[in-house]
Amino acid sequence: MIRITDILDKVGKYATQADLELIEKAYIFSATVHAGQMRLSGEPYLTHPMEVAYILADMKLDAATIVTGILHDTVEDTLATLKEIEEGFGKDVAVLVDGLTKLSKITFASREERQAENFRKMILAMSADIRIILVKLADRVHNMRTLEFQTEPRRSSIALETLELYAPLANRLGINWIRMELEDLAFKYLYPEPYNDLVQRIDKRKEERDKYTQEVKGIILREMANFGLKGEVEGRAKHYFSIYRKMETQRIDFDEVYDLLAFRIILDASKEKECYEALSVVHALWKPVPGRFKDYIAMPKANNYRSLHTTVIGPYGERVEIQIRTRDMHEWAEGGIAAHWRYKERGALKGSDQEQIQKLRDLFEVQQDLKDPREFMKNLKLALFPDEVYVFTPQGDVRAFPKGATPIDFAYSIHTDVGNQCVGARVNRNIVPLSYQLQNGDTLEIITQAGRHPSKDWLKHAVTSRAVSKIKAWIKTEERNKSIALGRDILEKEFRKHKMSLTQILKAEELKKICEEYSIEDVDDLMALIGYGKISARQIVNRYLPEEPEKKEDSLPEKIWKKLRKPETTGVSITGIDDVMVRFGKCCDPLPGDEIVGYISRGRGMSVHRASCPMLSDFDPERLIDVQWNITEKHTYPVHVRVTCKDKKGLLAELSTAISTHDVNISHATVETIPGEQAICEFDLDVTDLKHFNDVVSSLKRLRAVVAVERVRVSDSRPEKKPEKKADKKKLH
Ligand code: MN
Repeated sequence: MIRITDILDKVGKYATQADLELIEKAYIFSATVHAGQMRLSGEPYLTHPMEVAYILADMKLDAATIVTGILHDTVEDTLATLKEIEEGFGKDVAVLVDGLTKLSKITFASREERQAENFRKMILAMSADIRIILVKLADRVHNMRTLEFQTEPRRSSIALETLELYAPLANRLGINWIRMELEDLAFKYLYPEPYNDLVQRIDKRKEERDKYTQEVKGIILREMANFGLKGEVEGRAKHYFSIYRKMETQRIDFDEVYDLLAFRIILDASKEKECYEALSVVHALWKPVPGRFKDYIAMPKANNYRSLHTTVIGPYGERVEIQIRTRDMHEWAEGGIAAHWRYKERGALKGSDQEQIQKLRDLFEVQQDLKDPREFMKNLKLALFPDEVYVFTPQGDVRAFPKGATPIDFAYSIHTDVGNQCVGARVNRNIVPLSYQLQNGDTLEIITQAGRHPSKDWLKHAVTSRAVSKIKAWIKTEERNKSIALGRDILEKEFRKHKMSLTQILKAEELKKICEEYSIEDVDDLMALIGYGKISARQIVNRYLPEEPEKKEDSLPEKIWKKLRKPETTGVSITGIDDVMVRFGKCCDPLPGDEIVGYISRGRGMSVHRASCPMLSDFDPERLIDVQWNITEKHTYPVHVRVTCKDKKGLLAELSTAISTHDVNISHATVETIPGEQAICEFDLDVTDLKHFNDVVSSLKRLRAVVAVERVRVSDSRPEKKPEKKADKKKLH
């Protein structure tokens, strides 16, 4: 257990002028108010704030932060008040404790909502004082260290939150050790089996590896000395979670992970030049692996991380990753923003830190107005996992983008107008399409054209949250405008059908009355609702028709005409709208009997999909409407079926006989066989409805050779050759 003297000793060593008395006073206060409280581990509650304070002292933070660590739970969990804190420990500490209390108070219905909101609060807290976040991270580190005492499902949800939010946040702030410890602890609780497996495998060859590590270190140090370079070399296994992540993302086995070990050269000198000298020493010793050299000194990561990274073929022909940095760079790499919030620098952030915090704020600023927590989280995660590429503006400025970013992202990073009007880009003077993925070192120039607009397609290529939200905003306005125009069209047509004129109705301000009744903002909104299919045009027009429209006898020619005309029935009815073009989704081929949903698309009428169609999730929910089958005459509909059978002679004949007995037309058939094993047959059938189809399926299933019958989507059933799934067997678990 951490004692107050341990903390005082530690702080006294790095901050001789620190107010140790205040820390001691905080300890007495905290002990008094937490008295009698216990942690789930059975220890006195006080152990927790003391551990947190000790972690903060490890990070060499100032006295106010240490005091806050000791007091961080007092206002939330005890009778102590903020006023008492301020009176006893000053305004500075009170602001920090208040920030932490607020952070811990938020509870929300869903996990996503809670996380999104938590993060928003953190960003706000961060703008108040970065130290609030540092205490929060230390708090989380100790809670994770003692997570075993929590019960499920709390344990899993805390571990998940840690992995999804706190570890990335630590990474963003550049506090590497916290990130690694949080990741490994979360990994342990979330995926205990792979975790234990990995720990065992790594422990197994520890001796061998230690010997090897010593050898490599010796070689590097000797060579460095030959060239007059001073410094130290570290070598150790990478942290578990990074190995696991590599195995998962690359779908490889443990034995296939080459670079389990990471070496690090930390130079005593403070000049960048020596890093490059050390690099050439390493490259002279061992051959570098092409494409693996990364210069984070010339182009620091977004979290300000600086180092040279290279991978070489080591002494026994194995890959070895080596990082090279100065001691200054190392301090930042490990401590991140905390390294620059140390006692001596209290109150005065360096320019580079300010910049760093500003970057963080910018990152979240765009997301402030995202109301949907899921959207927010998606964008946030995008922002928190920066696998970055670095490109140049024509002026030679470096800009960082997430991997996969395109000229669209680049254009929006310059200005919204540049983004909205971009038509292409020149990369290293060559014209590239907007879908081009930016590569490290590209020089980019955006080509714009006045009057050009973003398209929905761009969303496929944009990866930064800034670009995505700007494009969506544009589309939203645009779609509304189009819905208004469409609604107007529909309404005009409906009025004309009854020999009335919409223009006159509009002039008479009649529609305003209707808007009032429906509590709709204005006529534009009403038109948009009609365009979306939310309100039917008939509904509006009916109000202007005489109470009981007289039944007009059809004239004779009309009667004949009506009889002759093949009624153009699509078999689908929607309340209110009956002059809408109806198409059936090619993606899911709905059959009468299936549950269906209609989607109103601009200018192309309505498409009808099965309620289970996966495409629906991509559609604008505002444009989905309820529709029913309304079959007045028999009609056939296409459907696709995949039959898996044991391969045998005469199979196809047997299958087609079974199908034909139901009077079903086969419009297309394919067979793929693995001789002597399996055959996969696919048929395009024309059936009248779901029952008809189900009858066919039953008959097929009764055949002895048939293993399975599935209804499939066309897009599933006829891709070009399916990719081989050889990666699967390598997957972990
Ligand atoms: Mn706590």
